[in-house]
Amino acid sequence: MTELKNKVAIVTGGARGIGFAICEALGAAGCDVIIADICEDTSREATQRLVQAGYVCEPYKLDVTQEDSVRGMVQDVLQRHGRIDIFVNNSGVGQKVTSTIQLPAAEWNRVLSVNLFGVFLCCREVGLVMAKQGGGRIINIASLNSVSPVALTAAYNVSKAGVASLTQTLAAELAPFGVNVNAISPGPIETAITDAVIPQRAATLGISRDEMVERVRASIPAGRWGTPADVAKVVLFLSSDQSDWMTGQNLILSGGLSGTQASPLKHVILDKE
Ligand code: NDP
Repeated sequence: MTELKNKVAIVTGGARGIGFAICEALGAAGCDVIIADICEDTSREATQRLVQAGYVCEPYKLDVTQEDSVRGMVQDVLQRHGRIDIFVNNSGVGQKVTSTIQLPAAEWNRVLSVNLFGVFLCCREVGLVMAKQGGGRIINIASLNSVSPVALTAAYNVSKAGVASLTQTLAAELAPFGVNVNAISPGPIETAITDAVIPQRAATLGISRDEMVERVRASIPAGRWGTPADVAKVVLFLSSDQSDWMTGQNLILSGGLSGTQASPLKHVILDKE
């Protein structure tokens, strides 16, 4: 994709998991990649790996939940690079698996803060920059849960549905400026988030972790879990001229899986912690 050469791309939560695969793909396509992540050490290590592979990459410490942190990063990158062409809102956290009637307010706020408020802050700051420069691509990583909520993760489901809605609103507002805003909604991908969630999900169904992993796999028509690279390929498409006339979309990327219906055991709902 020669058209991506020297484009300036920022990926939040880019130090590991899906975000790292996105940074790798954008780096390989010739972009100047900024790995913006809350953990300085992992961002630096991730940067080293990509620089060793011959890509142009730099780390940036960012907390998407903090207005000053987001504004500071966007302004700093703009000052040093002159423009921002691609912004991927990828950072996110999973939720403690628990019924909504027992969900602590603090957990609700933690998840909504990173997954939705953080995306709003980033979109607002970078949207203004892109509107002024007359073009750009914002790509929001939502989730299959944005359109198909699963029991016991209300905060996560709502945060991702919010991202899908925000994507549509921003797309309508920024289209006249040549800024495309789209979302990608992946199904199950093996990363740190699923590592933490799968054993909790297994417990709610009274099965083992391995049985849960297999149950998920078997529910996917394509017959396999997704990989971070699967998501990165769609990010490349949305970053490129191939998707020039596409905006406001929420692309479901799930090997054909359209949702999960796992009903938790009754005691999981009723037991108080
Ligand atoms: P990971 O936990 O591997 O990566 C998430 C990254 O976001 C981490 O590097 C994390 O840093 C960073 N992060 C967390 N909080 C903040 C913050 N406040 N500011 C900046 N960065 C932060 O998860 P995934 O790669 O799985 O997830 C990436 C995205 O994909 C998320 O939005 C997730 O919801 C979404 N997704 C994932 C799916 C899956 O099955 N894995 C399916 C559908 C969507 P640290 O680890 O240091 O806290």
